[in-house]
Amino acid sequence: MAKVTIDGKSIEVPDGTTILNAARMIGGDIVPPAMCYYSKLKGSGGKCRTCLVEVSKGSEKDPRPMPKLVASCSTPVMDGMEVGSSSSAKVQDARKGVTEFLLLNHPLDCPICDQAGECDLQDLGYKHGLVSTRTDEERRTFEMEDIGDKIKLHMNRCILCYRCVYTADQITDNRVHGILNRGDHSEISTYIHNVIDNDFSGNVIDVCPVGALTDKTFRFKSRVWFTRPMDAHRNCDKCCGKTAVWLFGDEVLRVTARKDQWGEVEDFICNTCRFDKKSLADWTIEGPRAIDKHSVIAQNHYELPELEKVKTLK
Ligand code: SF4
Repeated sequence: MAKVTIDGKSIEVPDGTTILNAARMIGGDIVPPAMCYYSKLKGSGGKCRTCLVEVSKGSEKDPRPMPKLVASCSTPVMDGMEVGSSSSAKVQDARKGVTEFLLLNHPLDCPICDQAGECDLQDLGYKHGLVSTRTDEERRTFEMEDIGDKIKLHMNRCILCYRCVYTADQITDNRVHGILNRGDHSEISTYIHNVIDNDFSGNVIDVCPVGALTDKTFRFKSRVWFTRPMDAHRNCDKCCGKTAVWLFGDEVLRVTARKDQWGEVEDFICNTCRFDKKSLADWTIEGPRAIDKHSVIAQNHYELPELEKVKTLK
């Protein structure tokens, strides 16, 4: 076991635990944001740099501070380590810089983006973004692409976090898309349309931290904060069948996997549940889903009587 102190809060964690996961075990404001790390996807993390932290004491044995800020998602804790996250001015400054970099090419089209209200980059922008841009250069642009009949790729919004690539690699039978080219020319592309043949391809939508991959059956139907997420389940022979259905009145506007407090999918779901079961009769509604997210989506509070209302609609 190793004892680590983050922003003055201490915890003992198993050896090999990363600083990010130790922070998640403590919880609260000290947890660094993560745009590319995804605990359920092997190899994820280490790309976006939003989770940088300051290690002011390396360990009990070697108390020297680490010379640079480190990515908390890929740095294991050492016994006696002391870390600054929200309390570190250097870290806050770095997060501002990283946010600015992520927004260099990302369009500020939140008012028309389906991910608005549940977008990690939008949340990061609110917290650390600048009021105005400091660059004159044009953002890079791509044509929108239909990735089959259910998924839309809007490459302009992609932040190259690799989550969808890992998802296709690890959740579907075989990966047929990836990030092509290098540097400013990097893009998600080629053969991605083949992914739609797989029963689990829709999960790339749920893992995308921004609005680059969206559900065509839901696009422009409603803002998420006007919908009511409900835990629901059905007997499914392909996946766990446990989902969140997003209702508008008695209409099921979309179906997603359930996400935990870190915005990560609890269980990946199949395309049949996600795209084809859009009737209330398809689902057993369990009750309102609490959305634990610091964004407008969490403001749409509703209580158990809502469940009774939904039951009467069926
Ligand atoms: S499309 Fe989304 S999930 Fe895929 S790399 Fe881009 S931002 Fe990440």
